[in-house]
Amino acid sequence: MTAPLPESIQVLERGWLSSNSVLLFDGETATLVDSGYVTEADETVALVNAALRGRTLTRLINTHSHSDHIGGNAAVQRAFGCRITVPEALAPIVARWDRTALLLDVAGQNAEPFSVDETIAPGDTFVAGGLRWEAIAAPGHDAAALVFYNREHGILLSGDALWADGFGILFGNVLGGYDALSDARKTLQTLASLTVQWVIPGHGAPFQDYAGALERAWGRLTAFAEAPERIARNAVRACFAFYLLEHQRLSRDAICRALATIPLFVQANDRFFHQPPEALAEWVASALVAAGRARWEGDTLVAHPA
Ligand SMILES: [Zn+2]
Repeated sequence: MTAPLPESIQVLERGWLSSNSVLLFDGETATLVDSGYVTEADETVALVNAALRGRTLTRLINTHSHSDHIGGNAAVQRAFGCRITVPEALAPIVARWDRTALLLDVAGQNAEPFSVDETIAPGDTFVAGGLRWEAIAAPGHDAAALVFYNREHGILLSGDALWADGFGILFGNVLGGYDALSDARKTLQTLASLTVQWVIPGHGAPFQDYAGALERAWGRLTAFAEAPERIARNAVRACFAFYLLEHQRLSRDAICRALATIPLFVQANDRFFHQPPEALAEWVASALVAAGRARWEGDTLVAHPA
């Protein structure tokens, strides 16, 4: 039997739209890892405030720059006056608020600009929750992504580099210009060399079956390598599910409009599917309905649970 997670760690598990947020307590102060999506920022602030129980949030650290991890940064900084640390490679992108590099307009998503106080690079360490964390490069889903690893207890804050069942979208292979697949392979090799008792992922509950998670991730990677259009299908399904969750209800026309205008969908279609928007709409809506994530109400697709 492995030990439970230390009491200095509190995981605020969220469903989409927001990533998980993780609080690490050191006496009267705390560090937060990731802040959720911008439309749920008030909820994030309320959850963090409740968990702090009078303690002070001094620092917010991001695993990577995607909207469901940084969207609440500005609100959290406003509410708690904490400093914000991002992976080093992201600092210039955040400083000039490059909405393309942040994949905001690209994926039809949003976030509120914030200012960076400190950066963290692979090999850097920090103490939070009474534990020493090493920052390890985890490119693939995001070229600049980091995971945070506590060697002593074998705890991995994996962001979207590794989930219980898979990992985050490989945007680079859908949009072109970045071979995210080969980077994800290197990342899995790196992760496989770590001794891990607990994974706290960016999405989903903390889990202990590290070997199983790595095996499933390798399986997904192999399937992607065999048929790259699977990467695009995965990306479109996941990003469209996110888009529907944010908007809650979309008419057939609105679905076609989104698929014909949001760059991620357009490029996936141009490069992999070659379908008219109506056919793509039919496919993606059916996929979401089959997965229990949406239902039709007449001609309107409704997020499920609405
Ligand atoms: Zn992500």
